[in-house]
Amino acid sequence: MTADLFPTYRGRMEYFCLGCGKRFPTNELYYTCPDCGGVFLLDNLLFDELKKTPGETWRNIFDGRAASKKTALRGIFRFYELIAPVLEEEDILYLGEGNTPIVESSPSLNAATGLKTAYKNDGQNPSASFKDRGMACGFSYLRALIRKHGWDNVLTVCASTGDTSAAAALYASYMGDAIKSVVILPHGKVTAAQLAQPLGSGAIVLEVPGVFDDCMKVVEHLADNYRVALLNSKNAWRILGQESYAFECAQWFDWNLKGKCIFVPIGNAGNITAIMAGFLKLHELNIISDLPRIFGVQSHHADPVYRYYAADETSEREYAPVTVTPSVAQAAMIGNPVSFPRVKYFAEKFEAIAGKDSFQVLQVTEQQIMDSMLQANRNGHIACTQGGESFAGAKRALELGLVTADELCILDSTAHQLKFVDFQNMYFDNSFPPEFEVTPDTALANKPELVITPEEKENLSEAEYTTTTADRVVAKLGLKKK
Ligand SMILES: *Cc1c(COP(=O)(O)O)cnc(C)c1O
Ligand SMILES: [Zn+2]
Repeated sequence: MTADLFPTYRGRMEYFCLGCGKRFPTNELYYTCPDCGGVFLLDNLLFDELKKTPGETWRNIFDGRAASKKTALRGIFRFYELIAPVLEEEDILYLGEGNTPIVESSPSLNAATGLKTAYKNDGQNPSASFKDRGMACGFSYLRALIRKHGWDNVLTVCASTGDTSAAAALYASYMGDAIKSVVILPHGKVTAAQLAQPLGSGAIVLEVPGVFDDCMKVVEHLADNYRVALLNSKNAWRILGQESYAFECAQWFDWNLKGKCIFVPIGNAGNITAIMAGFLKLHELNIISDLPRIFGVQSHHADPVYRYYAADETSEREYAPVTVTPSVAQAAMIGNPVSFPRVKYFAEKFEAIAGKDSFQVLQVTEQQIMDSMLQANRNGHIACTQGGESFAGAKRALELGLVTADELCILDSTAHQLKFVDFQNMYFDNSFPPEFEVTPDTALANKPELVITPEEKENLSEAEYTTTTADRVVAKLGLKKK
């Protein structure tokens, strides 16, 4: 097979409800199960056909496509057969998502932690978070539906104060014409930075009084009654796209995941669901022989999944939503994750193959999250607060004796550092509201220093100004003459 050819294999996909088990065809736009309201997964009924191709052949195909110049195969759809093999080439939307690098931590950072860590920088996606992986798939599917049905207008809707809105608005703006993107937000509850991306992409931004959950109820009502595509994380097509994170981790390490531990922050739990699902597919097709170990990480301010798995015995486990308190890992601050049934479903499959310690959930403090993010960023990483959460999770795992320095901890920085810079500012200015429970380490505060005042400048000639300023810099830095 030439790597540049668009694949000829086609699967047959169905929605499958984790609540009641019913199945539904994918020629319709379903968000949740019309019968019981449960969450869906997407199942390829012809997946077994892929098993006829040996693992080694798959590895070669995917490696070959890594050098492809064909746009439809350059991003997450390099793994076409494993994601949504019902799309045609013309349906596939590529805005440069996926293929994010894995950057090994410096020797000095590893020496400081006693761990071997590396960051997968998912903030290097087009809208600066991993959400683009799911949107690329969700929008490609929409494009296929529009083509098949000849629709001339589809409204994409989401309620999200952050990265989901940014990603949805970006992909919708690229598609133009038939797609109009609407973002519904709680009035007065979002920051300028959170508004900037959807506004910049030209989305219709509607504000309603109330909190995020009120917005969610409005958009779900719209999805139940009108032809709108709801892009929040219950949308099962997003999960498929996000599986590409797992495929890329495997390919980066030449398909050898022995001794690798994957750390993922958990919010609505879609990302960790997708990552487990992705590794399981690779394993089923003999593309990898070892599953990595998966560690979900939650803040003590939003930890329902941690609490559930904290009970060792399955029979003692009980799921209960929690009331969240403010978290610097704002994108993961969720008390009742919509994908929790999906986590349970895949965690069981993971443990059945790789043993009880192959999937675990850790709890870290807000303080540890902030300190870890700053430590990572002061050592050449571009981690966001959720990336700090992954790192804090790896340190916690070492403390609990769950990982060793021989293993490689792959930390998910789910967004770019710059998206969450407000928290860095609060740390440096020591201005965290008390409910965050973060006390800055003042040794880490970094502030600009004024070398010369505007008044001083006014009283100096241009030449004096240059030499006086330079002299002050020399004195501050203790520079020696050449
Ligand atoms: C959405 C998001 C998360 C949480 O992911 P889930 O799939 O909801 O668990 C974490 N980090 C960032 C930056 C996000 O945007
Ligand atoms: Zn159902």
